[in-house]
Amino acid sequence: MAQSGSLNVTVVGTGYVGLGTAVMLAYLGHSVTGLDIDQEKVDMLSRGELPIYEPGLDRMLIESRERIHWTTDYGSAIPQADVIFICVGTPSNVDGSPNLRYVSQAAQSVAENLNGKTQVIVNKSTVPVGTGDWVTRIIEDHARSYHANRYLVVSNPEFLREGTALFDSLYPDRIVLGSDNQEGIDRMRALYAPLLEQDFEAPAYVPRPAGYVRPELITTALSSAEMIKYAANAFLALKISFANEIAGLCERVGADISEVTRGIGSDQRIGPRFLSAGAGWGGSCFGKDTAALISTGQEYGYTMPILQATIDVNTRQRSLIITKLQGHLHRLKGKRVAVLGMAYKPNTDDLRDAPAHDTIARLNELGATVVAHDPIAMPRARREWTHLRYQEAGSVEDALRGADAVIITTEWEEYCRLDWDRALQGMRQRLVIDTRNILTRRPEGVTLEQIGKRQPTPVV
Ligand code: NAD
Repeated sequence: MAQSGSLNVTVVGTGYVGLGTAVMLAYLGHSVTGLDIDQEKVDMLSRGELPIYEPGLDRMLIESRERIHWTTDYGSAIPQADVIFICVGTPSNVDGSPNLRYVSQAAQSVAENLNGKTQVIVNKSTVPVGTGDWVTRIIEDHARSYHANRYLVVSNPEFLREGTALFDSLYPDRIVLGSDNQEGIDRMRALYAPLLEQDFEAPAYVPRPAGYVRPELITTALSSAEMIKYAANAFLALKISFANEIAGLCERVGADISEVTRGIGSDQRIGPRFLSAGAGWGGSCFGKDTAALISTGQEYGYTMPILQATIDVNTRQRSLIITKLQGHLHRLKGKRVAVLGMAYKPNTDDLRDAPAHDTIARLNELGATVVAHDPIAMPRARREWTHLRYQEAGSVEDALRGADAVIITTEWEEYCRLDWDRALQGMRQRLVIDTRNILTRRPEGVTLEQIGKRQPTPVV
């Protein structure tokens, strides 16, 4: 082990989760190696450049650079590690079940390079119940025989939110450790000691919140930890779908969803978060994790109707944007539509399962001309959304000029602070579909459609 409480840590997979984890652990004083099979990513990180956008991560990386380095080489990264995190992706198969190919490949490569001393292998990827045992078997099969019994597998699910990843990592509500082995738990407790004791200097750019108390350390069986992650995401998705379902009824009866969710969210049994109505949840996790949970149920002949309804409401919600647009503009062929916000939420460049994607795809099918803008995610969209047709706008004003409608799909701060009265002047028809309910009033002469609000006024 490294000196004075500091551990040697290797993080396998330097995506949104692995990168944040690696940089945070280096900041806490551990000696960290970030490993990825993507050479381009490793080269960027070695030059001190970030392959993703995450607020504050650039500063923390600079402050921690002496304790962190990057590699593609398992042979050098695994033998010296006290703790090895697996943070690779677990995307969905077409049938909704999770694709564990990357986990399997990573576990195999780790196994082939174990050092024969006690090493803790931590699964941070979101994986179905039973994967910890399956990883253990992969390691048994691939570790050199004399190393086979010298490793401990722990599940440590990740709860960070993109856009606030550093805050969530430094000040978590809880840390969940699932293992059937006390030694593995003890080493993880040592790894997280600075967070549990709060004895680290909080960075000025991610200040410790007032009144923050140290996180609860929840130790469980391996299988329970794996289930906790899925159940947490499923419940959050359920809250959003519930708000969206009530929003639909609000529109019909003339109530206002913002007032309603304020009213119910102030009940401590319900809580105000994850009750925003909109165009449905997106991002890399909720869709695949709800599908994975249903797929696990199917393996056991167990139906999950609440979860299925959560997904169905979300699918319906996505199509609402186009329905609202058609309600005013009728045929969309030849119409010019501005889309503001491509990332699935603010403060990230992540485009996975973003509502803007489905919206642009549908507008393409219907023959509309799309002009899109995002403060951060446009370069990534240029690489990843090559199958969509849209023009990039350099500014909101450019996007709106000559447009027949504008759809707000992401509540970026820039859009929330915009002088909408001015910005909307350049439009051909002033129709605003505000799926994030960010406009606090209807600008003069504008038709405003929001989610779960009273009926709009006609297009002027
Ligand atoms: P990601 O796609 O951003 O990153 C995965 C990384 O793993 C990529 O850089 C890829 O090149 C690398 N990789 C793939 N195979 C590898 C291998 N064999 N060896 C080394 N590197 C390999 O994924 P992510 O968003 O960081 O998610 C990782 C896991 O964490 C998923 O299971 C996800 O469900 C879970 N999770 C994600 C979030 C989130 O907000 N993104 C939050 C909590 C949990």
